[in-house]
Amino acid sequence: MNPALWLARTAIRTPEAPAIFHGTDLVLTYAGFDRQSAAIGAGLCARGIGPGERVALFLPNSPEVLPILFGIWYAGATAVPINAKLHPKEVDYILGASGARLAFVVDKTAHDVDLPLIEPGSGAFAALTGTDPLPAPAVTAPDDTLWLFYTSGTTGKPKGACQTGANLTAMSLAYLADVDRVTAGDAALYAAPMSHGAGLYALVHVLMGARHVIPRSGGFDPAEIFTLAAQHRDVSMFAAPTMVKRMVAAARDTGADGDGIKTIVYGGGPMYVADIKAALDTFGPKFVQIYGQGEAPMSITALSRADIADRHHPDWERRLASVGRAQSVAAVAILSPEGEPLPAGKVGEIAVKGPIVMKGYLDSPEANAQAIRDGWLLTGDVGHLDPDGYLTLHDRAKDMVVSGGSNIYPREVEEALLTHPGVTEVSVVGTPDPEWGEIVVAFVVGRATPEALDAHCADRIARFKKPKRYVFVGELPKNNYGKVLKTELRARLRADMEQEKERGA
Ligand code: AMP
Repeated sequence: MNPALWLARTAIRTPEAPAIFHGTDLVLTYAGFDRQSAAIGAGLCARGIGPGERVALFLPNSPEVLPILFGIWYAGATAVPINAKLHPKEVDYILGASGARLAFVVDKTAHDVDLPLIEPGSGAFAALTGTDPLPAPAVTAPDDTLWLFYTSGTTGKPKGACQTGANLTAMSLAYLADVDRVTAGDAALYAAPMSHGAGLYALVHVLMGARHVIPRSGGFDPAEIFTLAAQHRDVSMFAAPTMVKRMVAAARDTGADGDGIKTIVYGGGPMYVADIKAALDTFGPKFVQIYGQGEAPMSITALSRADIADRHHPDWERRLASVGRAQSVAAVAILSPEGEPLPAGKVGEIAVKGPIVMKGYLDSPEANAQAIRDGWLLTGDVGHLDPDGYLTLHDRAKDMVVSGGSNIYPREVEEALLTHPGVTEVSVVGTPDPEWGEIVVAFVVGRATPEALDAHCADRIARFKKPKRYVFVGELPKNNYGKVLKTELRARLRADMEQEKERGA
């Protein structure tokens, strides 16, 4: 299923309905949204870009993102949405690895790649969209890749998860079945990056003819969200747990109560029980949790609004600490290290099967053989299922750090630091932090100052991946095979934190 067909149908059904807002300003009705996407699709086709070709978007949340995304699908091509927070050098790697034929970017001069780059609003953009719109979206096959999602690989280099039309359809319909109802009166607000989950949720809102609201800030600003929600009403949004926490703090400071917000879907990282309780106290029963990953987008499990709000249920707290039950489109199993299914209560690797599982990573047969076995996607997450089907995550793929809702793979940070001439050895771990969920800490052997290392990182990796703390050590703890013992480093940071607490008490 091509989501551009959903757009075309909604535009025929309700052409005058408001579609895209920038803040409170209406930018496009559904007829305009559809026309613009069809024109972008025509421009791409005129350049010979169609099914099987890839087109990248490296754009902050802005009113152009959705017409471009659906324009790519009008042409039947694959969209490669790239996180706007990445460093241009990281982006150039993805542009090369994805084989993108063209990319939409905000600043052409920041890139050093050999493919056409188009800035929205530029003369080149006007030329692309100046062609006669395509009369209808391309008909795509269910297993055509429509969204190539770049996830950081544990080996350092990002891998492209091929999400097909069938994956995106299953994810969108499961939203209606397992997450929330959507009507034409609703408004999807994009406060999280549209290159990830927030953008994926645009599809079901296009299908149902709802409004799309892009904040003027282009990002996450709690005060702006409260104002927009009060004006637009019936607002739904995706938020990482750290965003929910910041919204609660902002609401408590200002007396806001989330008026106008209908639903906040949270996920992408652990939500602590105390935090979701505080969110419920502040905003009321507006929350639904989802668990997913780039390889099975947004739809492995859901913890329903009713479960989250059911304070009197004897298992309420246990359920709040879980990620809910399998969504309609997912079979979930817990596997032993030998790959055998484990009974309820036993901890093992979480595996998923169903129409939401990606076709595979692009051009990575070895990674695919490791990630998908007999149709089961091995998530790399560890957890257990209760007899009543609730899934609890115990750990992430052991070493990944989730800071401010973004995934950071230590290896990438280590590789960047190791290119500094003063760094002999380095090991990067995450440590719990009340504000960010986790922060990145680098243990460094060598001679350098934190300022110099910060500047070095700023040149190579995205800002959010930069260590928040450096610990200079004489040597790193290692096992008999010479492998660094990260568990010891984490334990040391925890012990330091305990000592600090005791001193503070
Ligand atoms: P990504 O592929 O970038 O979307 O990251 C997916 C990873 O984020 C998952 O494999 C989990 O480790 C983590 N994650 C996603 N949703 C949740 C959730 N609701 N609770 C805890 N961790 C989550």
